[in-house]
Amino acid sequence: MKKVRTRFAPSPTGFQHVGGFRTAMYAWLLAKKHNGQFILRVENTDQARSVEGAIKYIVDSLHWLGIDYDEGPNAAELEAFNEASEFAPKEAGSHGPYIQSERIDIYRKHAEQLVDEGKAYRCDCTPERLEQERNEQMARKERPGYSGYCRTRKVSADTKHIIRLRLPDRINLTLEDAVRGRISWENPPLSDPILFKSDGFPTYHLASVVDDHLMEISHVMRGEEWLPTTPWHLMLYEAFGWEAPVFAHLSHILGPDGKKLSKRHGAEALTQYAEKGILSEALLNYVSLIGWSPGSGDEQEVFKREELIEKFSLEGLNKSGGVFDPAKLEWMNGVYIRNLPIDEFKNIAKPLVAEAGGKMLDEQWELLAVHVQERIKTTLEVVPMLEFVWTENLQREMKDAMKGPVDAAKAKEIFEAAAQSLEGLSEFSVMNVETALKDLVAKLDLKMGQVFVPVRIAVTGKKATPPLFESIVALGQGLAVNRLKEAATLV
Ligand code: GLU
Repeated sequence: MKKVRTRFAPSPTGFQHVGGFRTAMYAWLLAKKHNGQFILRVENTDQARSVEGAIKYIVDSLHWLGIDYDEGPNAAELEAFNEASEFAPKEAGSHGPYIQSERIDIYRKHAEQLVDEGKAYRCDCTPERLEQERNEQMARKERPGYSGYCRTRKVSADTKHIIRLRLPDRINLTLEDAVRGRISWENPPLSDPILFKSDGFPTYHLASVVDDHLMEISHVMRGEEWLPTTPWHLMLYEAFGWEAPVFAHLSHILGPDGKKLSKRHGAEALTQYAEKGILSEALLNYVSLIGWSPGSGDEQEVFKREELIEKFSLEGLNKSGGVFDPAKLEWMNGVYIRNLPIDEFKNIAKPLVAEAGGKMLDEQWELLAVHVQERIKTTLEVVPMLEFVWTENLQREMKDAMKGPVDAAKAKEIFEAAAQSLEGLSEFSVMNVETALKDLVAKLDLKMGQVFVPVRIAVTGKKATPPLFESIVALGQGLAVNRLKEAATLV
């Protein structure tokens, strides 16, 4: 196989969602698997649609996913664009610039070359002429498309014009797509495509073919929406006399309702996953598996980054669209949280607590962290699980403490008795608290839940917390006893 060089070529027209980043993941996985290079190229030739901040967002998001590009815009190139990112590499490749608006002269030179060779031509048709042409075609019930009016007109380079590729009269093309297999086009419904627009910018078609060639891209992975115009690209390769790369047209990601995931339809910017407490490793793992299967008969779903790289193959890419299921992502995120070494989990949890204005001592983290880690699916649950530790005016739903035989009077009795027995402990350890509360269950002739549920509400204000005895010890004897006494006055 020739040297593997893949690229992610987003247009900074908005905030790419997981669908776009999945393309980046696959391109990166393929490059890493074959010790090749992964390239970031910014396709901003549609100036009117470029959005400020979108390039920085792409660079930051790739970094968050742990996808570092081997080649792409470097720090200086981004800064010159007012898109500085702290994650941009200082030096990144010798095939730059990697932002297409910086490469206009290159595209112009290539388009002119095709004009000189008679493979492309200048066209000065006005919008009115094109409109009229279209109306006439429709009236004749013909497929609308550019007629080729300027093919032989020798429009001067000095008039305002665009450049079009001259398509052959008969087109017969075959593509071996790495995902979709062999695709043939016989006289596809295409008319001479525009290579250079009147605003002085190239079209996507010209720019991407020229760049993929000059940047020595071996595999083009992109969304299936580009398939219908792939014949244009193949004909451009032919016109230039270049070898085309391998194409892999990826199937769309679908929402849970089976419709294509789009910005307007359930897809979110990548940053929102971080805000929702999703770990980037979990997102990378989960999203990679939408549209790619590591192998038949393999039930494994959780893959470390290195395993993804090792197992990735073009053959495993699916032809049909895969569904993005937020609940499955949360499940997988929970697995990743539980798999973290405890110190790493604490490194994530501590800043969240600090941000929420919480204060916890080392001993309290020691007692509780591992239990929180076991119980949550997203890191957003860390603070709600722990806030009882530092909350001063605990809010309690006392009705949650009462159930079955535990009425208000019984609850009061439980709180007072629990306070008394905890107050009497000379060593406030998890084991002693457990023994004391279990003794109390027996003494009151109740079931464990009938005592522990109200006690949990009394000391934490919550129904779901880390385990009760650890939570009580984390609070400390004085505070735990006070909270029980306070609860006794509330029923
Ligand atoms: N700029 C195109 C897009 O954002 C990229 C298509 C391609 O990868 O060739 O959809």
